[in-house]
Amino acid sequence: MVEINMIYDCVVIGGGLIGSLSALVLAQDGFRVALVDKNLLAKNDKMPVDRRGIAVARGSQALLEKVGVWSTLKQVASPIKTICVSNANYHGTVQYGQQESDGFEMGHIIEGYQLRESFYQAVNNQENVDCFMPRTLSALQQTEEEVTLSFQSGEPPLKARFCLAADGKNSWVRNHLGIKSRSWDYHQVALVFIVQHPLSHHNIAFEHFLPRGPLALLPMSGNRSSVVWTETPEAAKRMLSLDDKTFSEEVSHLFGEALGPLTIDGPRSSYPLSGQMTLKPFQGRCLLIGDSAHAIHPVAGQGFNLGLRDVYWLESQLESLKNPSKIISTLACFPRERSLDILGMTGATHGLVKLFSNNSGTMGRFRSLGLGLTNAFPFLKKKLTRHAMGLKEIRS
Ligand SMILES: Cc1cc2nc3c(=O)[nH]c(=O)nc-3n(C[C@H](O)[C@H](O)[C@H](O)COP(=O)(O)OP(=O)(O)OC[C@H]3O[C@@H](n4cnc5c(N)ncnc54)[C@H](O)[C@@H]3O)c2cc1C
Repeated sequence: MVEINMIYDCVVIGGGLIGSLSALVLAQDGFRVALVDKNLLAKNDKMPVDRRGIAVARGSQALLEKVGVWSTLKQVASPIKTICVSNANYHGTVQYGQQESDGFEMGHIIEGYQLRESFYQAVNNQENVDCFMPRTLSALQQTEEEVTLSFQSGEPPLKARFCLAADGKNSWVRNHLGIKSRSWDYHQVALVFIVQHPLSHHNIAFEHFLPRGPLALLPMSGNRSSVVWTETPEAAKRMLSLDDKTFSEEVSHLFGEALGPLTIDGPRSSYPLSGQMTLKPFQGRCLLIGDSAHAIHPVAGQGFNLGLRDVYWLESQLESLKNPSKIISTLACFPRERSLDILGMTGATHGLVKLFSNNSGTMGRFRSLGLGLTNAFPFLKKKLTRHAMGLKEIRS
């Protein structure tokens, strides 16, 4: 039962992966938290199941261990031991293996809904978190002491000392507060589905660059892989209309024979791809984190990992955030302390998409040369691997 007139330490808007993880980190440190989402996040029939295979980088694992969800997730996580990058129609393949990762797994593939459920369950076990969902927000106001959040239903407003907005790339909070951001459209759609194959994937994640966009096969339990296939909107529409058999044949044809014929297993979903960047993601007592502050192309499987590093930052600021007089100045430090990582990852993924998603013969040869050179320099390979594992940004 929520007390009338209570003031929360923090209200988190958006209970997706980053919002619920933030709520958990705050609650475990004793903060009184309100978590608000426009959807009902508990397992329910209305919520589409997120079957995306999310690549959770090695560097993200420590936080998941610390908040106590890793022991559950480990049971459903498939390790990535090698990453194999290839370039359609041109020679050049790079393999990043355990030699580059000092014998460690580079990360794990976990389905989106499994991550979401484990975070949400852990949040629900915290006595000092109140969940408000589904709720439609109507206003957000700030004074020198607090943030007030009003609901369209007319129920009593929520008050908190500060607000974390993790409400996704089309952030309501960002728009409502008039915080400026830059967004761009990749004119691509990611088709996401699971395939079965007769041969073992040996825990290899394949990234095969095709002229219209990358095709990634990410290892899952058994002889199954999660596929993220980026296409033009027109081609994606056509692919979605095919029957399972024809669809499976087309994917098999594009991917090649490494795993034998691929058979689609379960539904297909699609995600239009765009990027977004907010250079000054705060205003007064409100801070944007995760996709609401920076959304990137999924080409390198890094969006969640990047958002999780915002949560690492939050964790490092807990003591300051307990001091009411330091809240505003602490939130205002976010861009200075996170920009290098965010701009670097946004630039790198954008560059990869532009370099690989085109038909130019010159670019094709340039790509092959790049892959060949990467293979020839073990030092460079190791550095790139540490970036992909999210280790460089956490402890250099
Ligand atoms: C095809 C694809 C594959 C991907 N693969 C990977 C991968 O392998 N590895 C990786 O690291 N990243 C990956 N990503 C990126 C990753 O999914 C996102 O970066 C991550 O989910 C962002 O989490 P978030 O919590 O910030 O936002 P979201 O997941 O968008 O969550 C936002 C939450 O806010 C709620 N909300 C929205 N509006 C409101 C409102 N007005 N009021 C209240 N609540 C609201 C929503 O209901 C939702 O629960 C992939 C992305 C795509 C599209």
